[in-house]
This record gives sequence, structure tokens and C-alpha cells, in this order.
Amino acid sequence: MRRIGLMGGTFDPVHIGHLLAAEAAREAADLSEVWFIPTSVPVHKPQPGASGEQRRALVEAAIAEHPSFRVEAAELDRQGASYTIDTVLELRERYPDVAFYWIVGADMRDDLPRWRRIEELASLVVFITLNRPVSGADAGRSEAEAELPPYLRDRIVRGEMPGIGISSTDIRRRCAEGRTIRYMVPERVRAEIERKGLYGSRTVD
Ligand code: ATP
Ligand code: MG
Repeated sequence: MRRIGLMGGTFDPVHIGHLLAAEAAREAADLSEVWFIPTSVPVHKPQPGASGEQRRALVEAAIAEHPSFRVEAAELDRQGASYTIDTVLELRERYPDVAFYWIVGADMRDDLPRWRRIEELASLVVFITLNRPVSGADAGRSEAEAELPPYLRDRIVRGEMPGIGISSTDIRRRCAEGRTIRYMVPERVRAEIERKGLYGSRTVD
């Protein structure tokens, strides 16, 4: 069975934390591919700063050179609220002979018990979690895996990556302040953000 990793996110914009997480997950679970799934309407977040098509284009630019990474537009095409369980059910129907893995950073891992139909979801995918430095409002939250319910604990593979203290929120803020985002995102992503003036950015060099 082909093993494919799914990485959901707002990607508003995609940054090197996402890319390293996907690559570390690929290595940790010996995945043949990772599919990036930009969210259409995030369930628990304020609305994105860039449109679905803009965010998707940035992800395409970021992963263009990786032979095993691609974008899966299932959530953008569906519109409306995106729940992981719906996406996974749809993908399993389209690709019945694939074993799917769902990739999340440590901040999301702690939220898993509150995801819609999580027990069913945990029976359909194995989760791959990656370390992520805690910051701001999240500081002080528990990282203890022992606190996860057993149906989740047994369905989690841990990947390790060099900790990256970068978030899309930081990058949007930097753009709005006219500060550099060089090396926080791939060059092509930076070029496209600045060319389109996304997030209030102007050319900084
Ligand atoms: P925002 O600040 O807008 O929430 P974000 O940087 O957290 O953006 P998301 O699109 O929310 O990015 O995250 C998508 C997925 O990538 C989540 O599973 C998240 O945990 C993971 N992720 C994001 N940034 C990192 C990072 N620096 N290290 C590890 N995982 C990350
Ligand atoms: Mg986030």
C-alpha cells in the first residue's frame, strides 16, 4: 500500500516550518508523497489574509522543486467549513488503496481530542506529530503525550525536526510592517508575496 502524508493548514502564507515538518514526516513514516491541503474556511480561526487561490499558489511555488510534494485542493474546492474527517473520507473514496497519514505540529496535536469525529478519524489515519517551539498565547500548554486518550496515543508517530519558531502570523505581521521575511519562506514565495503586495507587503530590498 502506498503511504501518503496529508498536511492540512491555512498556509497564510506557507513558510519553512511547514516545509520542514512535511519533510521530517516523510522521513519518519517512510511516506512516498506528502499532499498539502490548504483550508478553505478555517473552522477556529479568523479569516485568512490571502484568498484560497493565492494561498494555494504560494504553496505550489514553495514545493515546486520537491518531487514528492504536491497540492491537494479538496478543501478549497469544497468551500464552506473544512473538517478533516470529511476530507479524509473523500480522499479514501478517491484513493482506496492508499494508507493516509495526517501531519500536525505539536500545537495541533494538543487540540486533536476536540476535532470533529476524532475517534473515527483516528481509525482512518495515523497521525504524525512534529515538535514546534511554543510561543505567545500557547506558552505553558502541556506537551505531555500521556494526556491524550488511548485511541489517539496508539495512532501517533512522532517525527523530529529542528525546532522552527516561525508562524504565518509572524510573517503576516512582518509584511504589514515592511520588515524582511527573507529565509523564513522560500525565495519564490517571498517574491510572489511582494509582487502581489500580499499582507500589506512592499518590496523591502
Ligand atoms: P498561523 O500563525 O496563521 O496559525 P501557522 O504558522 O500556525 O499559521 P498553519 O497553517 O496554522 O500555520 O499550520 C498548518 C500546520 O503546520 C499545523 O499542523 C501546524 O501545527 C504546522 N506548523 C506550522 N508551523 C510550524 C512550525 N514552525 N513547526 C512545526 N509545525 C508547524
Ligand atoms: Mg496555526
